[in-house]
Amino acid sequence: MKITDMKLFHVKPRWLFLKIETDEGICGWGEPIVEGRALTVAAAVEELKRYLVGEDPLRIEHHWQVMYRGTFYRGGPVLVSAISGIEQALWDIKGKYYNMPVYEMLGGKCRDRIRMYSHCGGATPEEMAANAVRKTEAGFNAIKIGVDAPVHNVDTLRFVEGQTAKLAAIREAVGSGLDVAIDFHGRVSPAMSIRLAQAFEPYYPMFIEEPALPENVDTLVRIAQSTTIPIASGERLFTRWGFREALEKQAIAIVQPDLCHAGGIFEARKIAAMAEVYYGSIAPHNPLGPISLASCLQLDACTPNFLIQEHPSMAERWDLGEGYLNQAFKIQDGYIAVPEGPGLGIEINEEALLERAYPGDWDTPRLYYADGSFAEW
Ligand SMILES: [Mg+2]
Repeated sequence: MKITDMKLFHVKPRWLFLKIETDEGICGWGEPIVEGRALTVAAAVEELKRYLVGEDPLRIEHHWQVMYRGTFYRGGPVLVSAISGIEQALWDIKGKYYNMPVYEMLGGKCRDRIRMYSHCGGATPEEMAANAVRKTEAGFNAIKIGVDAPVHNVDTLRFVEGQTAKLAAIREAVGSGLDVAIDFHGRVSPAMSIRLAQAFEPYYPMFIEEPALPENVDTLVRIAQSTTIPIASGERLFTRWGFREALEKQAIAIVQPDLCHAGGIFEARKIAAMAEVYYGSIAPHNPLGPISLASCLQLDACTPNFLIQEHPSMAERWDLGEGYLNQAFKIQDGYIAVPEGPGLGIEINEEALLERAYPGDWDTPRLYYADGSFAEW
């Protein structure tokens, strides 16, 4: 079998899908993207296509090594995201070729269904509590909320009180059975993260996410040692080498590789194994589309230290594949059943993709402080 062509589809709302075709008629799908830089990653995929066309798609590890190490300069979000989407598509092809799900080729099922968490928001504590109740009524036993933006490097007591009030309102409304994670989004300074974690601690968050940027591991260690709340991070770390120091220094309890950024399905499986050595868990990051979700579910199914799966919780269920897949994923009682189909276990509706085509120019929202200076989203 040989790779004959690679086609890219920019689809709404901000996604990039890749289709790899072969001379045996089997094709595979992946999602190679950096949010807000879809055109840049598309160019990287086009460059890698020069190597891949004519190659045997079943030699996934070999091609990963060539793509990652082959150009002297390695790593970074753009190149590794391009490799990630290609890697997903190659696993999809391999699974269809051998007629088995990807998880079957990576050791087989460790579970029958995948626990999901839902995003939850609210401008006021009352709104936040009402939305959390709605999520529990929909069957979820875990949600994730976010620290509001913009936040100053040293912010007021009122800011801390406002954030804590939302968490308190959720606990008041739903009790102690619901897991509530909190995303700091890497935009909170370490000084403020330590203060916020201390204020949140009585409400027993499931984890706090990116309480500092991952590039300075010692900072993360300092925050981790200041609180009993488990620290999660990893959506902006790439490959095993990106996670090594954070795991060795035990800065994070929960690794969150993004399967569209960290190097793909098998790379994330290796990262999960590294975390397992430190008794850590994996909760794959996923704010993207249905191919990303499908890839995550394959990993979640076969990984013993899997904790919980993120999805963007879009009202239209696009992230679950509605309007993109012939059969969208269904969340029942907060879980998705492990898919049975070969490869990634999905069928893309190509006609629907063409209807949802866009120029690929989605950009990250920009925020500004009251004085006009730039603030992180
Ligand atoms: Mg996050």
